[in-house]
Amino acid sequence: MARRAPARDIAENDLARSGGYREGRGAGEAGPRKRGDANVGQTDFSIAIVGAGIGGLAAAALLLKEGFRVTVYEQAAGFARVGAGIQQSPNVMKVHRGLGIEKHLREISFAPRTSLNRDGLTGETTNEFPLGEDAVKRYGAPFLAMHRADLHSALAGLVPQDRIRLGRKLAAIDQNGGRVSLAFTDGERVEADAVIGADGVHSLIRDYTSGPEQPRFTGRIAYRTTYPASLLRGVDPGLSRTKWWGPDRHIVIYFTTAKRDEVYFVTSTPEKADWITRESWSTRGDLGELREAFSAFHPDVRAVLAAAPEVHKWGIFERDPLPAWTKGRVTLLGDACHPMTPYMASGAAMALEDAVSLARCARGVDRDGIEAALKLYEATRKPRTSAVQAGSSANTWMRNATDPDWLYGYDAWTAPLGAPDPGKA
Ligand SMILES: Cc1cc2nc3c(=O)[nH]c(=O)nc-3n(C[C@H](O)[C@H](O)[C@H](O)COP(=O)(O)OP(=O)(O)OC[C@H]3O[C@@H](n4cnc5c(N)ncnc54)[C@H](O)[C@@H]3O)c2cc1C
Repeated sequence: MARRAPARDIAENDLARSGGYREGRGAGEAGPRKRGDANVGQTDFSIAIVGAGIGGLAAAALLLKEGFRVTVYEQAAGFARVGAGIQQSPNVMKVHRGLGIEKHLREISFAPRTSLNRDGLTGETTNEFPLGEDAVKRYGAPFLAMHRADLHSALAGLVPQDRIRLGRKLAAIDQNGGRVSLAFTDGERVEADAVIGADGVHSLIRDYTSGPEQPRFTGRIAYRTTYPASLLRGVDPGLSRTKWWGPDRHIVIYFTTAKRDEVYFVTSTPEKADWITRESWSTRGDLGELREAFSAFHPDVRAVLAAAPEVHKWGIFERDPLPAWTKGRVTLLGDACHPMTPYMASGAAMALEDAVSLARCARGVDRDGIEAALKLYEATRKPRTSAVQAGSSANTWMRNATDPDWLYGYDAWTAPLGAPDPGKA
C-alpha cells in the first residue's frame, strides 16, 4: 500500500533526516485499515492533540509528517523556562535522531561520562556505569543531560506555530458518529476525527477514557533548580550524572550544558501526606528546609545545596498501569496514561517513544482504520511503559550493579508493533 506524501509544513531537513523514521511497518504486521492510493497526500484527516508538553509536541511533529491535519491545544499562554534538567538516555536519543534534533541536542547538552551512584552519607561508590563514548558504542546513541526548556524548545521548533493553539484549556470531551468534540474553558468548541490526550499527570482526557480517579501522591516531593555553575565557587560536581542515595531520600546532580556552565539538582524528599499541588513547575520551595533535609549528607552535596540561589518543589505522583488507554477515537500518551516517579529518569523518554509508536501505527490509516490503529499503539506501548512505571516506583534503578540494556537498547522506530509475543518475552 502506498503511503501519503509528507506534509509540506514540516521542515524537510528536520524529520526527513531520520534513519529509523523511513523504516516501514514491520514485515507481516497485521495493521489497521489503510487509506487507498487515491487518498495519498490528503490532509483532511484531523487529529487534535491536547497538551503541548514533550510528548504532545513530538506526536504533533510526527503525525504532521504522516500527513494528518494536526492541531495542538495547550492551556498555558506561553512556554516558560522553568529551572529543571532532564536526562535523555540512548533509547530516547534515537527518537531525537528520527525527529532530526539529535545533532542540536548533542551540541548544547552535557554528556556525562558515567552514571555514578554514591552513598549519600559516606560518599562510597555503590555503582558506576559507563556512559559517554561507551554508551554510543553499546547502544548506538549517546546519553545526554540538558535543560528541560532546551529540549522543549527543540521539539516546539518542529511544529509550525499556527498548529499550536495556546491558552486553550480543555473543559470537556465527547465523541459521537465518528467525530470527537472538544470544549474549552473560553467557550470555544472544535471537532476532530481523533484526539490524543497528552495532557499530563492530571489528565482530563484520562478521566474520559478510564473514569475519574486521582493520581496517587507518593508522600514525596522533588526539590529542584538549575543555576549558574559559577555560583559553586570551586565545588566540582564532576563529569558524571551523580545520584547520592540516603536511607529515605536522594539527590541527583549534573551539569545541563555542554559548556558545563549550568548545574542542576533534583531530590526526592519525604513530605507530609496532605501536601498536594496539582501544578507545578512554579511552586517555590524553602531553601532552609531543603538544606536541613540533607544536613547529614556528604559535604559535596551540602556545598551544591549551599550555592543554590532558589529552589522549586514538585509533588511526586504516580498511578498503577491503567487497564486501557483508548476509547474509540481517543487515546492517551505520556504522563496522561503512565505517570511515574522520576527515579529512572524515563517519563519523558516513554512519552517520546509513545509518539513514535503512535505515528507508526497511524501511518496511512483512513477514518475507518483509526480506532484499530490506536489500539495497536496501546498494545505496543503498554507492556514497556508498565515495566518502567514499576521500576521507577521501586527506586532501586542503578543504585547497585544494574543491566540497563532492556531500557537503553530499545529502538521505537523498529520495535515490532503490537503486543509482544509471550513466547519471546
Ligand atoms: C522532578 C522530575 C524530574 C524528571 N526527570 C526526567 C528525566 O530526567 N528524564 C525523563 O525522561 N523524564 C523525566 N521526568 C518525567 C517527565 O518530566 C515527564 O514524564 C514528561 O514531562 C511527560 O511529558 P507529557 O508530554 O506526557 O506531559 P507534560 O510535560 O506534563 O505536558 C502536559 C501538557 O498538557 C497541558 N495540559 C494539561 N491539562 C490541559 C488541559 N485541560 N487543556 C490543555 N492543556 C492541558 C499542560 O499545560 C502541559 O503543557 C521528570 C519528572 C519530574 C517531576
